Amino acid sequence: MGQVKTKDALNRPLRDLRISVIDRCNFRCQYCMPAEIFHDHFQFLPRNELLTYEEIEKVATIFAELGVEKIRLTGGEPLLRKDLPRLVEKLVKVSGIKDVALTTNGVYLPKYAKELKTAGLKRVNISLDSLDDELFKKINGRGVGTASVLRGIEAAKEAGLGIKINMVVKKGLNEDQILPMAVYCKERDLHLRFIEFMDVGTTNGWKMDHVISMKEILRILQEKFELEPVDPSYFGEVAKRYIYRDSKTEVGFITSVSQSFCSSCTRARISADGKIYTCLFTGKGHDIKSIVRSDASEEELKAAIAKIWHDRSDRYSDERMMGSSNSREKIEMSYIGG
Ligand code: SAM
Ligand code: SF4
Ligand code: SF4
Repeated sequence: MGQVKTKDALNRPLRDLRISVIDRCNFRCQYCMPAEIFHDHFQFLPRNELLTYEEIEKVATIFAELGVEKIRLTGGEPLLRKDLPRLVEKLVKVSGIKDVALTTNGVYLPKYAKELKTAGLKRVNISLDSLDDELFKKINGRGVGTASVLRGIEAAKEAGLGIKINMVVKKGLNEDQILPMAVYCKERDLHLRFIEFMDVGTTNGWKMDHVISMKEILRILQEKFELEPVDPSYFGEVAKRYIYRDSKTEVGFITSVSQSFCSSCTRARISADGKIYTCLFTGKGHDIKSIVRSDASEEELKAAIAKIWHDRSDRYSDERMMGSSNSREKIEMSYIGG
């Protein structure tokens, strides 16, 4: 095998890996899996198309050899995948992996939080876009009330997991929830992250007019709170962080629309069907499942993955900001997991 390159064409190292373990979900969030498209007869991936836990472990081991230190499990709804703690248990033992985290809508945390913690999970990001019950039911498209998620947050806390709350903000939908969510999280010392509504996939009807930028969210927060910026704690940190002056609670912003961060993008993604995506906004996945399931050696698999990363030159958000990117085919969020 030739020399393994762990930097891409723009000289960005490979540091973190997001693995989507399933494309199904119990929700139909309108900004992610609109119910008109992901209807009751929608054909999700058959089970044998998903990477098995042993296959995920094998791929993660190679990613770790190439520099990955952090893994996040996502979906679809990752807790719909059977025995997820068994996968966590495998991944925390992979040499070089320092942190395994999970992103979930929280509904199944009362059932699994303790088991996940025992398996070695450190942190969980729980998505909650509104504290208003009726609005939340409308957003998730399944009429699920906020109580199910709030119980999940409690369960994660009781299990001793680190918690961040993810809130996608969409203009005309939930901007009136910015302050109530901030108050709720600050009172409980929960780190809230506001996520700008993104043009992931092609089904969520995204328009620039729907985006509420970090600047606008910060202005709304500053009506009530005093906030100070916090320096990034490592290269490639995605969230821009602030701290409330009168507490130690942080608040963060994911600004992939208003302030791109492609120049420090160190993240690879594996879709539920075993393809590597080197950008959240690409339609082109690199099939590694067929290599994993062939009789290729680990060295060959490693060389293939290293080449995919080395050849990458993605900078979609930068291009969007320059007004030159919108018409391409893009993978859906539920396949790639954010
Ligand atoms: N089902 C889990 C959940 O909701 O947390 C994990 C998968 S979900 C795709 C991962 C994250 O992506 C969630 O925090 C969700 O709110 C966010 N997300 C989904 N669609 C989005 C969009 N169009 N723009 C911004 N964030 C989005
Ligand atoms: Fe499901 Fe998460 Fe997408 Fe909502 S954001 S539809 S919970 S995958
Ligand atoms: Fe990374 Fe693509 Fe997002 Fe840029 S647009 S930060 S390259 S995932």
